[in-house]
Amino acid sequence: MTDTSLSAADTPAQKAGRNALKLAKRLRHEVGDAINDFNMIEPGDRVMVCLSGGKDSYALLDILLGLQKSAPIDFSLVAVNLDQKQPGFPEDVLPRYLASLGVEYRIIEEDTYSIVKRLVPEGKTTCSLCSRLRRGILYRVADELGATKIALGHHRDDIVHTLFLNMFYGSKLKAMPPKLISDDRRHIVIRPLAYCREKDLIRYAEQKAFPIIPCNLCGSQPNLQRQVIRDMINDWDRRFPGRIENMFRSLRNVVPSHLADTRLYDFAGLRVGAALPDEGGDTAFDSETFSDPTAPVFDDEEAAPATVRRPVINILDTRVAGGCGE
Ligand code: SF4
Repeated sequence: MTDTSLSAADTPAQKAGRNALKLAKRLRHEVGDAINDFNMIEPGDRVMVCLSGGKDSYALLDILLGLQKSAPIDFSLVAVNLDQKQPGFPEDVLPRYLASLGVEYRIIEEDTYSIVKRLVPEGKTTCSLCSRLRRGILYRVADELGATKIALGHHRDDIVHTLFLNMFYGSKLKAMPPKLISDDRRHIVIRPLAYCREKDLIRYAEQKAFPIIPCNLCGSQPNLQRQVIRDMINDWDRRFPGRIENMFRSLRNVVPSHLADTRLYDFAGLRVGAALPDEGGDTAFDSETFSDPTAPVFDDEEAAPATVRRPVINILDTRVAGGCGE
């Protein structure tokens, strides 16, 4: 068992080391929980991990490789990077890194950059066509590799940002699902980092010294709508710690009878004496009250009072599930 508790006598280096261990453990548990909750990985799966060279996809691969060693089920991993031929893309970085890990990998070279530049007028956003082309290529590669799951590095903050983007600009209550099926129903896409905070992934990438490849090589302008949402949520996070967590939890706690979508709930069919709906209950005359809308989230889990400590259960990892707390 690894003792990760801090003591007053710790040197700064010891403290940093222990905090790094705790962060790695927390991320591993969160990924394990997401995998379990959504049945993301099953025995015999061949998981294609899409690696862009950004911090999130590096963390995804790193954590999945760790889980693979301790999981009670067998699954294989193959890392895939799509080299889109953006100017200045450092071609040697990912092969060198992946070879050092000893993981199976493929680098796919497809010049989508030239296609996008040729087809999209100057000044227009290129991301939509670029990501459509990338998606098609990755699905084809998944077929070629016999991959049964395609893993992407989106995290909890990406999911919350997408929720607000869809509400603000699309009039839809819709986020980014942790698991989805492709339109042709032939591929399952999973997002094992769905429970992970971006700020943890930033710290993890620093600690692991991943060889990050800049994400602006294509020269695309940042998506302004996404930036507006990002700034808004970051501001909330500074002023109301815990708010992002609560927003994400709300996606897992939907009450259709207290929304207004007639396709989700049969409002027209409501009659006196009918069966009661879901947990929303009768709030017709109530003003909403909330006990603790911004429950704090502790960077240091052990500093958190027991009542707000998040349960850490990872049935993928038998050692943790067995309670030895490795
Ligand atoms: S930022 Fe560049 S590489 Fe990424 S989706 Fe947009 S155009 Fe493509």
